[in-house]
Amino acid sequence: MSYQPPGTLYVVATPIGNLEDLTPRAARILESVSRIAAEDTRHSARLLSHLGISKPLLSLHEHNEAHRVDTLDAYLEAGESIALISDAGTPLISDPGFILVRALRSRNRHIVPIPGVCALTAALSGAGLPTDRFIFAGFLPAKAGARRQVLENYQKREETLVFYESPHRITATLEALAEQMPERPIVLARELTKTFETFLQGVASELLDILAADPNQARGEFVVMIGGAPAAREVREQSIDDETLLKTLLDEGVGVKQGAAIAANLLGGRKKEWYARLQMMKPDS
Ligand code: SAM
Repeated sequence: MSYQPPGTLYVVATPIGNLEDLTPRAARILESVSRIAAEDTRHSARLLSHLGISKPLLSLHEHNEAHRVDTLDAYLEAGESIALISDAGTPLISDPGFILVRALRSRNRHIVPIPGVCALTAALSGAGLPTDRFIFAGFLPAKAGARRQVLENYQKREETLVFYESPHRITATLEALAEQMPERPIVLARELTKTFETFLQGVASELLDILAADPNQARGEFVVMIGGAPAAREVREQSIDDETLLKTLLDEGVGVKQGAAIAANLLGGRKKEWYARLQMMKPDS
């Protein structure tokens, strides 16, 4: 167990459903700090009461975060340690905390993350989509036009695209995806770590059919994961049509024999057949 000086801010991940997911270290830190800054104090009071922890709570949410910086900094200066928690999962990940952590870091305060659950990584770890590179886009804009624009910006990205979604907008989002990314494999992770945890997969139109057939599937909290765009190289290879390639070879002055070898290499098939086609296409000299 490493020594942490007094006056430390701990950024503590809490469960996103299943209370067993709170780590022993997180429980120990919550037990040891002088006070806890929480997104919604009433909500967090329930978690703390479940853990048998009673600490002074201080609200820190998107509307008061900037005003809380000096207060919390003064506690740290006085040698108190503080835990920052959000309603669920890892603070700062689509949750309050960024303004506080940025300000305290610029003041050289000691900040220690206590890692744990995050819906993003939990969803990716169970989805079966590539995870070597991914883009996390947070929440999509609520308005249709802005949402369309954001999706368009990501259209050509090869990374798996991940965003958070609420039950009110899941259908509208899938409709937008059906229009803008109709062929892409999508995985919906719903109610992670909870009783009705579900992974649904398919292209957007298939997922819309599933949700229409069973409205329960549209309830709860979602992580939406979309397979990336095919690699640019694949697109280029797929988009070369035979005729264009052969014509380009001839236009560039490549001989029939060499052209047949190049075509067989790039497009497959037998050199003899490409040779015959190039012979037929060759302008009379
Ligand atoms: N800080 C949190 C984290 O670490 O994942 C995210 C907070 S964000 C305000 C809430 C969103 O996270 C939800 O709308 C949903 O998209 C996602 N989320 C949170 N809990 C979830 C769960 N149990 N199952 C699926 N998605 C969840």
